[in-house]
Amino acid sequence: MPEIDLAKYQIIEKKPKPPEYYAKVESAVESILEAFGDDPQREGLKNTPKRVARMYEELLGGYCTDVDRLVNDALFNVEYDEMVVVRDVEFYSLCEHHMLPFIGRAHVAYIPKGKVIGLSKIPRIVDMFARRLQVQERMTRQIADFVGDLLEPQGVAVVIEAVHLCARMRGVKNHDVGMTTSTMEGSFRTNPATRQEFLDNISRTSAPFRL
Ligand SMILES: [Zn+2]
Repeated sequence: MPEIDLAKYQIIEKKPKPPEYYAKVESAVESILEAFGDDPQREGLKNTPKRVARMYEELLGGYCTDVDRLVNDALFNVEYDEMVVVRDVEFYSLCEHHMLPFIGRAHVAYIPKGKVIGLSKIPRIVDMFARRLQVQERMTRQIADFVGDLLEPQGVAVVIEAVHLCARMRGVKNHDVGMTTSTMEGSFRTNPATRQEFLDNISRTSAPFRL
């Protein structure tokens, strides 16, 4: 496996889990409840800070990923140079501006240069970058860069379609608001036919993402 620069991807391999983690999140949640005039001790809320702390541990778990285990012997040397496309990878992330969910799907493609990765690993990679405080543009780029570093392919492309609840729930509610971001590298950038083949592939087989 090639050496991956973990700091570049904000990956902490070993779970730090400092003992104060839960206490910090719990007291912060309790403060929010109090600030809004609710009673953190009432029955329905009593365990909410604990639940929220555990929830964030899961939803933001992407920072702590054992990359060796994630890739887990799923890199193969092959003489194959046709486009590999993994479509409709569902993901759930949190926007870093509001800590509200953005939800959607990712489409990932690459053209190998001697190396491929097991197909089931692409959704794992998407998940690792989704389970963080994110912006959609950065997530798109990180997935592309990571696949690029791992496989050194002829090209890599990522398209992400998502709906942001911070746009849906706040202010002027625009229920049609959805966002598509894309990154094209290598042959996807230099060869319009390659790029078009990928875009045709994902538009032919998937209905537009709706929530
Ligand atoms: Zn937001």
